Formats: sequence, structure tokens, C-alpha cells
Amino acid sequence: MANQYAVIGLGRFGLSIAYKLFESGQEVLGVDVNEERVEESQPYATHSIIADSTDADALKSIGIRNFDTVIVAIGNDIQASILSVLLLKELGVKKVIAKALNKLHGQVLKKVGADWVVFPERDMGIRVAHQLLSPNVLNF
Ligand code: ATP
Repeated sequence: MANQYAVIGLGRFGLSIAYKLFESGQEVLGVDVNEERVEESQPYATHSIIADSTDADALKSIGIRNFDTVIVAIGNDIQASILSVLLLKELGVKKVIAKALNKLHGQVLKKVGADWVVFPERDMGIRVAHQLLSPNVLNF
């Protein structure tokens, strides 16, 4: 059975997560405040909607607590990222994954309840180094 995911923030990071999950047969709801981003994401998600994840009522009306996992892929607006994670956990979402721009941002996300904090640039750098050090360097 397909899992239900919501991806909040449809920039390059959020959209690539949405697309990979959607391509693998999962149910994916894309959410962004920006109408253009929502339109662009249509082929890469089951549904996409315009909503502000810092608005508790908007999250409730989406029925966000029914999703198995919610990914907060907002980066530059640190306040929006932190507030979104806080609201999602308060509304009872079991698994919240959030993108952090730096160490301090990551620490705050953990404090407000993020279950998994991702540092895209740092994590990708480590992955590239691992690939280079791997005996099977053709495997990328
Ligand atoms: P990326 O690095 O993934 O390409 P980006 O450079 O566009 O992202 P970010 O600030 O990380 O910039 O924003 C990612 C997306 O999050 C944007 O499309 C933005 O419109 C969306 N976003 C920002 N704030 C909110 C919010 N409160 N609710 C929903 N979406 C939001």
C-alpha cells in the first residue's frame, strides 16, 4: 500500500523529493505559498496546492495529521521553517523531516520536534566524498 507524504516547499530540494516518491508509486501532496511553484510541480506530485504552512488553520484544512510523513523543504525563510515544524508536531504529525541551512537552524528544528533534520549541502558533500573513496567509483 502507498504511503502518504506531504512536501511543503517546492523548490529544487522539495520537488526532487516529491518526484522521486511519486515516481515510486507513493501518494504525494505538494504544498507551496507560491502559485507558480505549485503549477510547475503538477507533473511531479499526486496533487499540489497553494497553502502557507505557518497557518495552523490551513494545515488543519489539508488534514495534515493524516499524512504518514511531512517534509518541510523550506530553507531561506528560517522563521517559516521553524514555525511549520512546530505546528506540524503540535497537530500530531508522526514523522516530520526538515531541511536546515546551518547547524543552529538544525538545532532549533530538533528542539521544536523535527524527527529528522537534513543538511542538503553538507550531506551531499559527504556522499560525493564517499563515492570517490568507494572502490566501485563507477557507481554514481
Ligand atoms: P531550493 O534550494 O530547494 O531550490 P529555494 O531556493 O526556492 O529552494 P527556499 O527558501 O528553500 O528557496 O524555499 C523553498 C520553497 O518553499 C519555495 O518555493 C517557497 O515558496 C516555499 N515556502 C516558503 N515559505 C513557505 C510557507 N510558509 N509555506 C509554504 N511554502 C513556503
